[in-house]
Amino acid sequence: MNVCESDKLGYAFSTYGILRVDNILDADIVILNTCSVRAQAEQKAFSYLGRVEEFKQQKPNIKIVVIGCMAERLGLKIKQRFKDIDLVIGAKNADNIVFQIVSLCDVDDTKKQEQIDMPSDIVRYITIMKGCNNYCSYCVVPFVRGNEKSLDYRTIVDGCSLMVKNGAKEIMLLGQNVNSYQYENINFASLVEKVAAIKNLKRIRFMTNHPKDLNDDLINIMVREQKLCSHIHLPMQSASNKILKAMNRKYTYEHYLNLVDKLRTAISDISITTDIIVGFPGETDQDYKDTLNAIKTIRFGGLYVFKYSKRPNTKAFEMIDDVPIEEKKRRHAIVLEESNKISAEIVLKMLGSTQQVLVEKIENNIMETRTRNGRKVFVEGNKNYIGKQLNVNVKEVKKNLLFGDIV
Ligand code: SF4
Repeated sequence: MNVCESDKLGYAFSTYGILRVDNILDADIVILNTCSVRAQAEQKAFSYLGRVEEFKQQKPNIKIVVIGCMAERLGLKIKQRFKDIDLVIGAKNADNIVFQIVSLCDVDDTKKQEQIDMPSDIVRYITIMKGCNNYCSYCVVPFVRGNEKSLDYRTIVDGCSLMVKNGAKEIMLLGQNVNSYQYENINFASLVEKVAAIKNLKRIRFMTNHPKDLNDDLINIMVREQKLCSHIHLPMQSASNKILKAMNRKYTYEHYLNLVDKLRTAISDISITTDIIVGFPGETDQDYKDTLNAIKTIRFGGLYVFKYSKRPNTKAFEMIDDVPIEEKKRRHAIVLEESNKISAEIVLKMLGSTQQVLVEKIENNIMETRTRNGRKVFVEGNKNYIGKQLNVNVKEVKKNLLFGDIV
C-alpha cells in the first residue's frame, strides 16, 4: 500500500513542479514513507534517517520529511531523535500532506503542471479503502491508520480509467480488508464489476482479504469475470484455534479450510497465498505444529512468515511474550523451508504447460511476464509485446524461476 501511496504523492507533487529523482544526491526534499506494522520496518527507517541526516550536513538546504504509520505512531519523538528532520506528518493527517510539504518548500511555480509524474506502468495500484476496524490483537494498523473508510466508488473507477488511459493493463485494488468495502450500496463484488467494465483493462487483482469477510459474491464474480486473476492472498496467520482467538481473528481454522475448498472448487487453477505469524504469545509447540501441518495440507502458492514482535498499543502488547527468540527463529526457518519446498513442487508441475501471461517489462530482450495465478515467466521477445497478453509454453524451471516460449 505504501508503494501505491508514494505513487499517488508523486503525481500530486508533480502538479506543483516537484518531480521524483532517482538519486538522493539530486534531491531537494527527501520524503520517507514509513510502515509501522513490524518493529523491523521501523528500525530500517531509523537507520535510513541516520544516513539522510549525514547527507544533510553536506547539503544543508535539503528538507527531510517523514510520513506514514511510523510518523503517526511516534510523532514528535522522531524529531527529538533526529534534529534535522523538517516535518513529521502522521498517516491520519494524510489528506493535507501535499499542502504541508509544498508550504515547506520554495516551489518554482513556472514548473507547475509542465510535467506530470504519472507512471505509465503496465501494472498499477489503487487504494480503495483506508484504515481498519478489526483490531487483530498483534496489529498496530487501526491505531495508526484509524477506522476503516471506503472511498467513493466513482473516484476509484475514474482513477482506474485514468490509469488505463495512461497505459495500465492490470490494476491491483488495495485495502486492509477489501472484502468489507462498502460505499453506499456498492460492496466489493459490485466495485470489481464496475472496474472490470473499463475498456482496455485486461487484468484485476486485489488484496488483502480477511477470511471472516470473504464471501460467495466475490468467489462467484472471480468465476464469472475473466479479468479477475486466479490468485488470492488470504492471511491465515495460524491454524491453532486457540491462537486465532488470542489474535482476535474471528474465524476458526475449519472456516479457513472451508474457504480454501470453496475457492479451489470454483477456480481450479487458483493460487492461494498467505501470511503466517510464528511465536505469538502462548503458541505452544503443538500450536506451531498444527500450523505447519496446515501449510503441508493446504499447499499455499507462497507465504510470508513473520516472527511475532510486540507492537505498542496493541492488545497482545499486554500478553507475556513467552516464546524465546531462538524458538521463534527455529519455527520461522522450518515454515520457510516447508513453504519453499511446496512452492518448488508447484512450479515444477507447471513445466510443459501453456500459460496466459501479461508482459510487464523487458530488459535485454528478455520479457518479464506474469501468469494469471501470479508466477513470473521470463520469455524472449521485444518491446512491442509490452502490455500484451500472450500464451507461453513453460519450457524450463531454474531455481524456482520459470522460462518459456511464445506459443
Ligand atoms: S485486518 Fe487485522 S492484521 Fe489486517 S490491518 Fe486490520 S487489524 Fe491489522
